[in-house]
Amino acid sequence: MKTVFLGAPGAGKGTQAKRFAQAQGIAHISTGDMLRAAVASGSALGLQAKKIMDDGQLVPDKLIVELIEERTQQADCRRGYILDGFPRTVEQAEALAVMLERRKESLDSVVLFDLAEEEVLRRLAYRRTVESRSDDSEETQLKRQRIYQEQTAPLIQYYRDQGVLKVVDAAGTIDQVYSALEQAFAAQGR
Ligand code: AMP
Repeated sequence: MKTVFLGAPGAGKGTQAKRFAQAQGIAHISTGDMLRAAVASGSALGLQAKKIMDDGQLVPDKLIVELIEERTQQADCRRGYILDGFPRTVEQAEALAVMLERRKESLDSVVLFDLAEEEVLRRLAYRRTVESRSDDSEETQLKRQRIYQEQTAPLIQYYRDQGVLKVVDAAGTIDQVYSALEQAFAAQGR
């Protein structure tokens, strides 16, 4: 199974992706986690990415696409994977389509974790009180939301047009959202 989890930063898709990947025995690929690991290791990629991430901007498409090209060829991806936080622009989605086509593969589905912006902002404010991520100042978070609306949200229509979009209501508790996610996939099998 190859799937993309889409949603605003703070909608909870990372938590759901981790759990669903484990249950399905497939890889969880979070570009945000990969970039944070690169920053922590002090690699050339990390040095390049840190400033951009701290500023709430998107890392260049080319860099992210290379990361995904490489990561999806690793052994743990053989049974499939969840892409969490990628693609984030139409250009990235197109690069993903080209990559999959070249490999004679395709996406099974794209799941949108649907959450009203006010609720996203409420959750992020809460997260700031319990976690300290260097890219999580209030100003940066607002910028990330704006960038999501401008650059990532167009992917909703992009994947809807391709007939692969599933929408999951992300407003409930972690368990409620997870059940909705399972149902969305069960409905596919019917
Ligand atoms: P995330 O943990 O997914 O919210 O990502 C944290 C930060 O990493 C983002 O604000 C971006 O700066 C960067 N990032 C993660 N994924 C991507 C991507 N697909 N394209 C560009 N930048 C990304």
